[in-house]
Parts: sequence; C-alpha cells; structure tokens
Amino acid sequence: MSARLVIMGPQGSGKGTQAALLATRLGVPAISTGDIFRANVKGGTDLGNQAKAIMDAGDLVPDEITNAMVRDRLAEPDAAEGFILDGYPRNAAQVEALDGVLAGHGVGLDAVLELTADRDELLARLGRRAALEGRTDDTAEAIERRLAIYEQQTAPLTAGYAARGLLVTVDGIGQVDEVTERLVAALGARVG
Ligand code: AMP
Repeated sequence: MSARLVIMGPQGSGKGTQAALLATRLGVPAISTGDIFRANVKGGTDLGNQAKAIMDAGDLVPDEITNAMVRDRLAEPDAAEGFILDGYPRNAAQVEALDGVLAGHGVGLDAVLELTADRDELLARLGRRAALEGRTDDTAEAIERRLAIYEQQTAPLTAGYAARGLLVTVDGIGQVDEVTERLVAALGARVG
C-alpha cells in the first residue's frame, strides 16, 4: 500500500500512539523525529549530544540537523512505498525541505492528518505521561514551551496544507481505538 502521510497535533494529542497504530494498519513505517532524537541522546551519539539540551528546554533542534536526519531516514528502503511522519515538519522551513526531499524521489504527500484536542485535555494528558514515562522534557516549563512553539510555528502550517487539499482534521479526544477508526475513515480513498 502506498501512503505518504504526515500526522500533526500538539504534544499530548495522542499523535505518537495513533501514528504507530495507523502505520501497522497501513503497512508503512511510523517515523517519529522525537524518537530518533531520543534514541541518539540515549546512545550518546554526536547528534544526541547536540540535541539534548535543546530538547530538555522544549526548543526545536536546528532545521539543518533535523532536515538532514529526515532526508536520510526517508531514503531507507522501508519508506519507499510510504511512511507516517510524526513530529515533522514543525515549521515552514521544514515543510519546504520535506517537499524538496519527496520531489527528489518523484513522489508527494497523500494527506496531512491533524489531531485536535483542547488545551486542558492536553495538559492533563502530558501530566500523566510525565508521571508514567519520566521524559526529561516533560517538566512544566518545557511542556509550556513546546505547546507555545506548536501554536506559533506548527499549527499555522495546516492552512498551507489545507490550501493544497491535503489536510484531514480529526477529533483526537476519545478512546484510542475510536480515534484510530476516525483517522482510517477520514483518510478514505486517499491512501491505497
Ligand atoms: P516530540 O517527541 O515530537 O515531542 O519531540 C521531542 C523533542 O525533539 C522536541 O521538543 C524537539 O526538541 C525535538 N524535535 C522533534 N522533532 C523535531 C523537529 N521536527 N524539529 C525540531 N526539533 C524536533
């Protein structure tokens, strides 16, 4: 199946969970830039060492680093027929970089999924996740910072994708399975 997708939504909207479930369903890899960065931090690589302090503060890792990482990942054979990008693109420069990479492969996005959730629900979920996972960037300050960056830099990207006819917006509140079904239904014939 061919499905080249981006999933967007603020931290805590459940997009990581949904990206993984949807990826299994569609038979494509879920590619989370946050997970790749975290794996590098854990492995003590140069990339990880460069990214750690930035991530802990809730800021964005510089575009040159992030774009190069995504370009390399999308060149892997398992992404040839499709992928779900989770956490990327996050700003206008990354949107442009992604378009360039895909154009270089002679392909384009099939859809951009946007998961919505209100701020109170997000803060409640992020608080629970901080207690469960112990992520070093789930401090109150870093959470605030990440939500602010999302609102300022990432959420506005949906307008551009909507203008290109790619945006599919889905309510992220509900049981995990329910939300997955909504996503599958909303994607409809866009993938296949
Ligand atoms: P996430 O797991 O998506 O919340 O990402 C965790 C952290 O990794 C972010 O707060 C950023 O510091 C970094 N990161 C992940 N994706 C990106 C991206 N597309 N651009 C810049 N930084 C990113």
